[in-house]
Amino acid sequence: MKAKLIERVEVAPGLGHFVFEAQNGNTLQFTPGQFVSFTTEIDGREITRAYSLASAPGHEDPANRFELCLNLAPEGIFSHRLFAMQPGDTVEMRQPLGMFTLRQPPRDSLFIATGTGIAPFRSMLQAHLNEASPQFTLLYGVRYESHLIYRAEFEALAARFPQFRFWPTLSRPEPSWTGRTGHVQKHLEEALGNCTDVDVYLCGLKLMVDGVRSLLKGAGFDRKQIFYEKYD
Ligand SMILES: Cc1cc2nc3c(=O)[nH]c(=O)nc-3n(C[C@H](O)[C@H](O)[C@H](O)COP(=O)(O)OP(=O)(O)OC[C@H]3O[C@@H](n4cnc5c(N)ncnc54)[C@H](O)[C@@H]3O)c2cc1C
Repeated sequence: MKAKLIERVEVAPGLGHFVFEAQNGNTLQFTPGQFVSFTTEIDGREITRAYSLASAPGHEDPANRFELCLNLAPEGIFSHRLFAMQPGDTVEMRQPLGMFTLRQPPRDSLFIATGTGIAPFRSMLQAHLNEASPQFTLLYGVRYESHLIYRAEFEALAARFPQFRFWPTLSRPEPSWTGRTGHVQKHLEEALGNCTDVDVYLCGLKLMVDGVRSLLKGAGFDRKQIFYEKYD
């Protein structure tokens, strides 16, 4: 099936929110946390890459619409092609797949994202955060304040739902930043409190995912409480 680019908003250089629509009467059947695969031919080779859905099923109008959060990988092949797309351009796509979904029924959970690893958590929160949901904390690490994509949305959710905490942290803050600083690992202990009866979901590059997993194991977390998606 094909996906058509409808709109792209670049929130910072090389970081964008992209809106697509599945073509030819297709709609996406998926669970928040899953990814689509895009394929294109580059220099005579067929290249496929995975992209987590940043929107929730049934959240979009029309129903064939879906959203992605994309990063331009330095020296990357496919992401350069995506960032060159203009509204109206199409790309070959496969139906969503993936096991990185919220355990059902959800338990108190800590979501840890770096960079575009925020995408599956936006989808999960759109679908599952409500008055009756358990405690969700989103610890979100980026380098610069301008890279905090969807910040206003998460702040609005935190203001509306007392059981949702939004903790952004910057590794390269401007002097004007008064929030958390440093890598997500620095804030893990505070986010967990003394509680080990929490599920932890990790999404981003390998370095962060492996680093946090080893801290969690050291803190006595069982493998079954740790869910992760690595982008590289
Ligand atoms: C399940 C899954 C879901 C993914 N979801 C997303 C998503 O929602 N948004 C997204 O932008 N990417 C996502 N990715 C990464 C994506 O599939 C590509 O790897 C990425 O676009 C780079 O592809 P490329 O061909 O441009 O670069 P490549 O030539 O394949 O790789 C270049 C370098 O980029 C690094 N890299 C990979 N992903 C990123 C990234 N997101 N930011 C910075 N550097 C990166 C790799 O470590 C590699 O060193 C996901 C990957 C997986 C496996």
